[in-house]
Amino acid sequence: DTIGANLDRAIAAYPDREALVDVASGRRWTYAEFGAAVDEVARGLLAKGVAKGDRVGIWAVNCPEWVLVQYATARIGAIMVNVNPAYRAHELEYVLQQSGIRLLIASLAHKGSDYRSLVEQVRGRCPRLRETVYIGDPTWDALTAAASSVPAERLAAAQAELSCDDPVNIQYTSGTTGFPKGATLSHHNILNNGYWVGRTVGYTEADRICLPVPFYHCFGMVMGNLGATSHGACIVIPAPSFDPKATLEAVQRERCTSLYGVPTMFIAELDLPGFAEYDLSSLRTGIMAGSPCPVEVMKRVVAEMNMAEVSICYGMTETSPVSLQTRRDDDLEHRTATVGRVLPHIEVKIVDPATGVTLPRGTAGELRTRGYSVMLGYWNEPEKTAEAVDAGRWMHTGDLAVMREDGYVEIVGRIKDMIIRGGENVYPREIEEFLYAHPKIADVQVVGVPHERYGEEVLACVVPRDPDDPLTLEEVRSFCAGRLAHYKIPSRLEVVDSFPMTVSGKVRKVELRERFTR
Ligand code: ATP
Ligand code: MG
Repeated sequence: DTIGANLDRAIAAYPDREALVDVASGRRWTYAEFGAAVDEVARGLLAKGVAKGDRVGIWAVNCPEWVLVQYATARIGAIMVNVNPAYRAHELEYVLQQSGIRLLIASLAHKGSDYRSLVEQVRGRCPRLRETVYIGDPTWDALTAAASSVPAERLAAAQAELSCDDPVNIQYTSGTTGFPKGATLSHHNILNNGYWVGRTVGYTEADRICLPVPFYHCFGMVMGNLGATSHGACIVIPAPSFDPKATLEAVQRERCTSLYGVPTMFIAELDLPGFAEYDLSSLRTGIMAGSPCPVEVMKRVVAEMNMAEVSICYGMTETSPVSLQTRRDDDLEHRTATVGRVLPHIEVKIVDPATGVTLPRGTAGELRTRGYSVMLGYWNEPEKTAEAVDAGRWMHTGDLAVMREDGYVEIVGRIKDMIIRGGENVYPREIEEFLYAHPKIADVQVVGVPHERYGEEVLACVVPRDPDDPLTLEEVRSFCAGRLAHYKIPSRLEVVDSFPMTVSGKVRKVELRERFTR
């Protein structure tokens, strides 16, 4: 199926069930209404001259129009380009030029970002950008009004012409380790993945999924939106950008059955004053992904948020994204120490990154994946594509992992984050897990920084529970002494208020490393 054809099935099967709810504005759409709203935008785009293969950019915080544009572009075979709402002018310019966006659909303003003035700054240097439409502005009304000039048959014909292997989306990676790369994904790539992720957590048309994660990232638009609509479930938007209070209120008010987030979002929700007063009894499941989840956090999510079936996913933008996922009946140990087992129709192997030879179970090596989920390629970057996807169509993830005897996979960390101290490999995640248990530590990141004698040394960056009583390096070292191998024990400590993050909620270790390199 193409995404449009798949949506048609949901509309036919569940016309009166809710498809989309925007809590902030109180607007809601049944599947029949959602389908009509999508068609209006799709015909509006056709009226603007958008054709198959044209790039349409979406540069917006979470809102219902984002979702409409996602399905409208898919219906007409346009390639939607997700633009990170945190981008500033020069990053916007890079994406506009790199992907050749013809029409940009943007938010007007959000939290101090004036999107219109940022577009104006770069427009002159992006000749391929013909037009910008702003959500909540007369230009958006003009887009939907233009629909009336395009007969429904033309839209049906545009959709009928598409193949599921056509590109539908360019998604830029989070930029955790460097400059974001534009992964080009097909209908088959992302629709299949959303479907399987949803099926693994057991979605039906009765599910209501609260999505505080950004739509611009695959977590929101594939695991969230496509995961919902491919099973007839409902998308609930709690707020334009992450807000722990709005999220908990949305779960309570909309009786959500599923909640998504990266670990730091769940931490913010659990730590919100008044957390215990929210009625979260409707929750059953949810998805936690993007970065490793501390065991303590997972225990609280299961016990205090009523998410007994919460699922851990591992994936990357380039693989649509998910390749490994925990199952509904996995125990807490598997749900925290591992990222689950491989999804149907995907292969994984763990290899020695230098030789490509498959390693025995229990040995750490580079995780490689293959299957329907592997991207078509990085947009206009054949060399980078060839570095990431080999001739056998295996995606080289750049992550270190171990496969257990029972097939569950543990993520050890990124190859780039591994610390080599005096010839010993040190995996930050192991030390972070260990330090989380310290009563004075609220959050911790471990990075390697250059050291004259050892090549690298282990630095712990800590957010203290009580800023007036931060801990000392001595306290950290005595906490570790005798319990961690000597070369893993941090030799430097930096106390910080917070960590530099990507919009998708990941800590940018590169930035910490640069900041604390002396
Ligand atoms: P860039 O490629 O631009 O540096 P990025 O790799 O963070 O950024 P994404 O595609 O958003 O961009 O993230 C994929 C990466 O996130 C994976 O390669 C992995 O390192 C990490 N990751 C994803 N899920 C998990 C998980 N459940 N546990 C640990 N790490 C995870
Ligand atoms: Mg990556």
